[in-house]
Amino acid sequence: MTRRASTVIVGGGIWGLSTAYHLARAGGTDVQVLERNDELFDETTSQAAGLVGQIRATPLMRRAVRYAIDLFLGFERETGHDPGFRQVGSLLLALTPERMASFEEHVEHANGNGVEARFVDGAEMSRLAPHLDASRVEGGYFVPEDGYLDPRQCAEAFRAAAEDLGVRVRTGTAATGLSVRDGRVEGVETDRGLVEAERVVVTAGPWTGIVAKMAGHEPAMVPIRHQRVTTAPAPGIPDHHPVVRVTDASCYLRPEDGGYLYGFFEPDPTSYDLEKLPAGFKTSDIERPVEVMEEARGRLSPVFPVLKSLEIAHYKRGLTTFAPDGAYLIGPVPQVEGLFAATGCAALGIAGSAAVGRWLADWVTRGDPGEDLSSVDPGRFGEGAADLEWVRTESEGFYGGYYSVFSMSVSRSR
Ligand SMILES: Cc1cc2nc3c(=O)[nH]c(=O)nc-3n(C[C@H](O)[C@H](O)[C@H](O)COP(=O)(O)OP(=O)(O)OC[C@H]3O[C@@H](n4cnc5c(N)ncnc54)[C@H](O)[C@@H]3O)c2cc1C
Repeated sequence: MTRRASTVIVGGGIWGLSTAYHLARAGGTDVQVLERNDELFDETTSQAAGLVGQIRATPLMRRAVRYAIDLFLGFERETGHDPGFRQVGSLLLALTPERMASFEEHVEHANGNGVEARFVDGAEMSRLAPHLDASRVEGGYFVPEDGYLDPRQCAEAFRAAAEDLGVRVRTGTAATGLSVRDGRVEGVETDRGLVEAERVVVTAGPWTGIVAKMAGHEPAMVPIRHQRVTTAPAPGIPDHHPVVRVTDASCYLRPEDGGYLYGFFEPDPTSYDLEKLPAGFKTSDIERPVEVMEEARGRLSPVFPVLKSLEIAHYKRGLTTFAPDGAYLIGPVPQVEGLFAATGCAALGIAGSAAVGRWLADWVTRGDPGEDLSSVDPGRFGEGAADLEWVRTESEGFYGGYYSVFSMSVSRSR
């Protein structure tokens, strides 16, 4: 193993690999990615639904998702590697008049901010999503430029493009310590020896807190289980089927493997304290969320009756990381020059991966992320961050109300 690199990235999920790609594209090719597992992107990234939607609570995240869509659409042309983005649009459904009233405001706001969105009637909903019982729906709108992708394929495309540009990726290599001298990071200690580095970027997903703590930094976030399933195949799901968000049910749905993939943000979520779990804890150790997904089925079946009879082919679950306000935690680690950390993905880390990689690469190579990232500054909670109970309660509360952004007045949205 090469014992030195200009920049070392800890964690080979989609954030680490996007960062590696963006660094290399910006000319910083002396980059090494360290991944503890034998396989890359086998933790949170491998479980994701891969939805890429532009209706977001903040202008920063709207721009971030727009950047992702543009990058994904041109990625194969630029790099020769297909991230598998399917631009089928997304359909947002309201089940109540109150929700519909907030949609009016959202559509106007979206169009006023460069995101194409239009109301659709029952006939068009049924054409887009033939299994939908439009008579159970108050109304909805369609965002044609949204879509979805297979997160593994996308992460693999970032890896391949980064390696083509000279990045070295080391699997089976766990960071066990961060070497810091006189307030400056000097490298990463691993179970295979020290790797010296001028800059270190920690993108270790739910383990980012554990790794960053090795240099005294504790990001204000909580790992929270999120889950989705894939059903057995169902006849009649068209190729162009959009992503569907049933916001009143806190559920989403899209086609996968000839059936449906659906996921659920339950109101009373389960958070984890990784420090209390065995060191080798992996995503695959999380129990199958059978009961929670039955609740999701019950919530979705009134609008998608076909789900009642479809067997579950696969359960997927992982730990998404949430900060108390649901925004990312990205930036330089205070008091340790050359060290950066990125976490708090808020179940939006696939859609945000492209922008996160670009911000971190710009920060590392130019000392500036290229736009105002104060809303994702890890230091924004001040002393509140030390109150772990507060962090947990607020973060769980944010997760439990995840889809409330779609009922929020735009003027109040963050
Ligand atoms: C069920 C589910 C559905 C989701 N759906 C969506 C969606 O539709 N859209 C969306 O945008 N997002 C979605 N997400 C969220 C998305 O999956 C995450 O935001 C994203 O994968 C985070 O990527 P990451 O690289 O930060 O973390 P990870 O993929 O977890 O990668 C971190 C890596 O760091 C490695 N690592 C940890 N510790 C060390 C160490 N000490 N040394 C070396 N390596 C280490 C890990 O092994 C891991 O490979 C979903 C998540 C789940 C669970």
